[in-house]
Amino acid sequence: MENKLIISKPSPELDNSIRDFKKDMYKFYDEFASMTTPMKDSNGNKIRDVRPDGYEYIKAAYMENMMHKHFPGWSFEEASKMEINPIWITAKVHLKIIDWGLYSRGIPIEFCVRTFYGSDSARVQYRNCPCVNRDNLKEANGTMKPKGKPWYNCNVCQGKPLPYTPENIIDLGNQAGSAVTKALKRSIQKATGIGNDVYKKRLDVEELDFGEEVITDTITTE
Ligand SMILES: [Zn+2]
Repeated sequence: MENKLIISKPSPELDNSIRDFKKDMYKFYDEFASMTTPMKDSNGNKIRDVRPDGYEYIKAAYMENMMHKHFPGWSFEEASKMEINPIWITAKVHLKIIDWGLYSRGIPIEFCVRTFYGSDSARVQYRNCPCVNRDNLKEANGTMKPKGKPWYNCNVCQGKPLPYTPENIIDLGNQAGSAVTKALKRSIQKATGIGNDVYKKRLDVEELDFGEEVITDTITTE
């Protein structure tokens, strides 16, 4: 097949066509970026929820459904291997969307695929000593065990959290899946603006006191 380089000559028509194109693209993405994410779907299921640490998040099912609706043909893949350390699992993904706006202007489909990177982490969860759940334990002198804390007289844990060893890990697969989902949601938000109202607000806060958040972050399975 013959390859021809087609060079458009500058013309007022071309200028107008580029201007219209920019306007249309901007309008298309601005609608997502300024959309209010609903609290519930038509079946009454929650779309937005709040993590134990107070941060609001959007359920993955909603964001994926928005992708099916507005970017049919979307996909994502691993951008690089997951990173796992005793505290965090980090997933890195590439989201691929077909920009139908470009396609509708006669651009070959292979040039209409846009790729966006996203990464996020989930905290590795460790089991507690069973004494943590026995909140009504009282010592001989009548001292109450602090709620949700190990009992300091326990023979197994001596009041300390169990060590971060592989045998104490709870369901790593679940946390790995959570890291992937969070990374995907982040890339969707960046690529399309879907969920901006919830996530952009949150990112602004996270950037302000980043260090503090990492230390105090609570376990989440969003
Ligand atoms: Zn214990």
